[in-house]
Formats: sequence, C-alpha cells, structure tokens
Amino acid sequence: MMSDSAAATGTPLDARSPFELRVDLGEGVPEQAVDEALASGDLGFLHSFTTGSAVDGPGIRVVAWTTGCMWRCLYCHNPDTWKLRNGIPVSVTQAAAKLRDYRYGLRVMSGGFTLSGGEPLLQHRFAVKLLAAAKGMGIHTTLETNGHFSDRLSDDDLAAIDLVMLGLKTWDPARHQALTGADIGPTLTFARRLAALRKPVWIRFVLVPGLTDDPDDMAGSAAFAAGLGNVERVEVLPFHQMGRFKWERLGKAYALADTEPPTADAVQRACAVWRAAGLNAD
Ligand code: SF4
Repeated sequence: MMSDSAAATGTPLDARSPFELRVDLGEGVPEQAVDEALASGDLGFLHSFTTGSAVDGPGIRVVAWTTGCMWRCLYCHNPDTWKLRNGIPVSVTQAAAKLRDYRYGLRVMSGGFTLSGGEPLLQHRFAVKLLAAAKGMGIHTTLETNGHFSDRLSDDDLAAIDLVMLGLKTWDPARHQALTGADIGPTLTFARRLAALRKPVWIRFVLVPGLTDDPDDMAGSAAFAAGLGNVERVEVLPFHQMGRFKWERLGKAYALADTEPPTADAVQRACAVWRAAGLNAD
C-alpha cells in the first residue's frame, strides 16, 4: 500500500534519514481535499518514515515525520517540514499497514512508534488516529510535539500516547517569542496538564550557543520541569548544522549560518544545570 503512495509522488515514503530535503510532494492535492483531510484525519501529509531510529524515544523506533509547523524556530533543521504540502499524502490505513509490518520487531527491541515532525498536532486528527491504531496493535507510542496545539487533544486522545517528548526551548517568554515566533504559554499549559495526568514526559532541549545556553535561563526551565513530577528524562541536544543546506536550498534566510555547535564541555555544563534540579539529563 505504501508503495502506491510513493508511486503517486514519485518519491519513496521511506527516507534514509529525516535530513532528506523534500518539497512540494503534496502539491497536486486539491485545496478542498486538504481541508477534508485535516477535518477527518483520514489522510495525512508525511515528510517520510524512518525505521531503526535509536534516538527518537525508548528502544528502536519507527518514526513518521509529519509536515506542517506553525513555529519558525531559528535553529530548525527541517524547514522543509514547515509547509504541509511538502509532504506525501498518506491515508491512515496505509500508515497503519506500515506499522503492522514492524510490530513484532518493535516489541522485541523494546521500541515503538514515534510521531514527530514538523508539528504533528497541526494535523491532530490524523495524529490521533494513527497513534490510536499503533496503540491498538500493542505498539508503544510516542508523540514529539512543541505543545502549541495540545488543546486539540482530549484526555481520551492522550490515553493512546504512552510518552510525550515535549520541546522546551527556553524559559524566558520574550526569548521564546524571538526564537520560535510563538508564545511559550500553550507549551507550559500542556506540560502542567500532562503532569496532572501523570503522563510520562521526556523534555527535549536544544542547546544553541548564544541563544539557549544562558545558565539562569536553563535553570528556570529545569526548575519548572522538575516541579512537574512526571519528567523521566531531559535530552540536551547539541545544535548542529545538518539542516543548513535545507535553508539554502529553500531560499530562506538562516540566522544561524555561522553558529558553531556547542563544545562537549558546554553540553556537559548544560546537563549539569538540569541535573542540579534533580532531573535525569543526558
Ligand atoms: S517546532 Fe520543530 S519543526 Fe517547528 S520550526 Fe521548531 S524545530 Fe522546526
């Protein structure tokens, strides 16, 4: 089934890595069909699937990367996922069939399915249906999100999600606005809601020299996360330049073109700030 979808666009849905540049693969889908897809969730737009990931949740993961994101993070390494129609149109049935092929292997490897993006909740109905389908197959489910559209999820929707990987960019509201183009409020509201539900959470924090590495700022985020009581892990992700070529190829101005990745010492110092709040950070 998936190969049918691939044939429709001429591009295989499986990618060697999420760093493949993909553009306009859903361009042929009529506007009305896009609206209907978003309303029903029966069809989604995916940048790609990757299999065998060891860095997108517990164990070995199959990852579906959605297209569409409402934020504009200065350090985004996948700006081709911002536009919904850069993705391949894929039905829930097709995507679930893909997961079915891997379900036994994922269980053996203590892994599961991760829905990431882009921002998956921009297509929240598709996200909910696909995560519920995975959960129904006995597959561990993870949602990676910036939390901005989390009020679109009911508590029943959240019941199909075993783990949320929540991006926490910075503690300072003004810095957050400058970094992402968005208000930090909905992300924090979602974090508190997940805590009330005792839903396991991993925090993803991208360490960008000169942007997110202020110790007091990190300490603010760490104190907030530690106070939630449901944060199992904090992943300190060093900024890198693997997405720079995408900004260039898309003709977008990239403010961080000359920013160097943090040193190993800087990463360790950042981890220490999170650990000082009592969190498991690496
Ligand atoms: S939320 Fe993620 S996909 Fe969206 S702009 Fe930020 S880094 Fe990129």
